[in-house]
Amino acid sequence: MKNAQDFSAQTLLVTGARPRPVTNAPLNEPVVFSSTFVGTGSDSGEERTYGRYANPSWDGFEDLLGQLEKATNPAILFSSGMAAVAALTALVPFGGTVVVPRHAYQGSLVLFRQQEEAGAIKLKSVDITDTQSTIAALDGADLVLLESPTNPMLEIADLAALLRAAREAGIISVVDNTFNTPLNLRPLELGADVVVHSVTKYLAGHSDVILGAVLTSNDELYAKIRNHRALHGAIAGPMESFLALRGMRTLALRLRAAEANALQLAQFLSQHERIGEVRYPGLPSHPQHELATELLGGYGAILTATINPRPGQSLVAAAGEFIAALQLFTPATSLGGVESLIERRRRHQGEPESVPENLVRISVGIENGAELVADVTAALE
Ligand SMILES: *Cc1c(COP(=O)(O)O)cnc(C)c1O
Repeated sequence: MKNAQDFSAQTLLVTGARPRPVTNAPLNEPVVFSSTFVGTGSDSGEERTYGRYANPSWDGFEDLLGQLEKATNPAILFSSGMAAVAALTALVPFGGTVVVPRHAYQGSLVLFRQQEEAGAIKLKSVDITDTQSTIAALDGADLVLLESPTNPMLEIADLAALLRAAREAGIISVVDNTFNTPLNLRPLELGADVVVHSVTKYLAGHSDVILGAVLTSNDELYAKIRNHRALHGAIAGPMESFLALRGMRTLALRLRAAEANALQLAQFLSQHERIGEVRYPGLPSHPQHELATELLGGYGAILTATINPRPGQSLVAAAGEFIAALQLFTPATSLGGVESLIERRRRHQGEPESVPENLVRISVGIENGAELVADVTAALE
């Protein structure tokens, strides 16, 4: 018999995290709604005590994501991706220095900026495409958070080089792997200490649940983050955990279908006269296309495009008009669901000014690709 870890991710997603097959027993792990667990009466031999410390409904998802990310520990599930990011603060000493990409996920940026204003940390923001200056910024830092691709500029970092430098400098390295999923990138294998996920996005995949996760093979960091979860209390609900595991079963099919659509759409948009710049790591025109090809198992399904204004039209209006004319792309934030979503990023306060006013980010879904292209064609006319 093969060990679970010898199977491909595609198989593991389907076969992993199931109860042992026993006649008449359920195929799926039942959802456990309980705030507390019956003890032994003595103080020994209890695996679970209170539901803020453990819930069997977390276990399947945590085990499976741990296997997919090739971590030696299970994932640590949180009530949201931001709760997972916020738990990283448990790894930074008071007054310590955190390095973040200038185009990091907006929530992470705002959180770290507010902590800096409160005097809890010092913050350094870097252009992660500039490997040398990012490595220079690691000097004296305590933790570096990396994203590749970044959001929404889809910049690709030389992660192997940056993670090696962080390791040599003794700095805790974290990769937010939300855009890639473990199917396209396994940062722990490249030397990252910690991986964070917004499970909300591709892993759960249906825009019906908010969850996050942290992974690490370092036992000391694992204990600190679990302790943070138990005492800050940002735990996952049993129903959400069930939905995330159910959604993740189809991750391999969903991601590859969305990527095929994204490439088709990116190629189409990059030829269109109403479009300025199209960014998609899978296009040869992407500034780090070769690095993306080397680094990633797939290019993902997020792309951005700038909409050229018609004569006399503002940049904001050009993007707005395009979005309003679409039928199959719903205007909404978030990404990684089965449905296509679009938004003008600068509508968010705090989005850096380096993001153009007429830039739209598209999370490409798994609808029929030709119909998506036809919808965009009609909207641009
Ligand atoms: C959405 C997102 C987050 C935050 O996750 P939530 O589940 O919304 O709290 C963090 N990082 C990235 C890259 C994201 O896209």
